[in-house]
Amino acid sequence: MKEFIVNSAILPGEIDPVACAMGIPKMLRDAGVKDIHVKTCYCCDAEGKVVFEFEAPNKESLSKALRKIDLPVESIMETKKVMPETGLLSFKCRDIGMKCDFGATAKTQDELMKKIAEHARKAHNMKTIPPDVMEKVKKAIKK
Ligand SMILES: [Zn+2]
Repeated sequence: MKEFIVNSAILPGEIDPVACAMGIPKMLRDAGVKDIHVKTCYCCDAEGKVVFEFEAPNKESLSKALRKIDLPVESIMETKKVMPETGLLSFKCRDIGMKCDFGATAKTQDELMKKIAEHARKAHNMKTIPPDVMEKVKKAIKK
């Protein structure tokens, strides 16, 4: 399956964008379209626009399905999701199996370890972090 961003050409006042976005999966089902799925919708009330994220085997079948359900389309783009590099390191207590909602981010590991150590002292009663926990913490740090 490929991912597509569809820019709708719904005119202001013509269709309620939110209702339209909500109704798309049913419309596709009713039209007998099985290989196309809506992943996300972004509605802009001010401009009456809806941008859809679809999953489809290819652009042709997606465009055909949208014609079938009478969705006015401005453009269809095949896309790939990428996560922007934030340059931040992050850690979550939950990732080392703690029942705790603590999370921290920092630019360097030293900075992050300081935050983690402080939290461990205050919240988990650890004056120093034991070596086995420290191992887990280091493995759980995400870039
Ligand atoms: Zn914690």
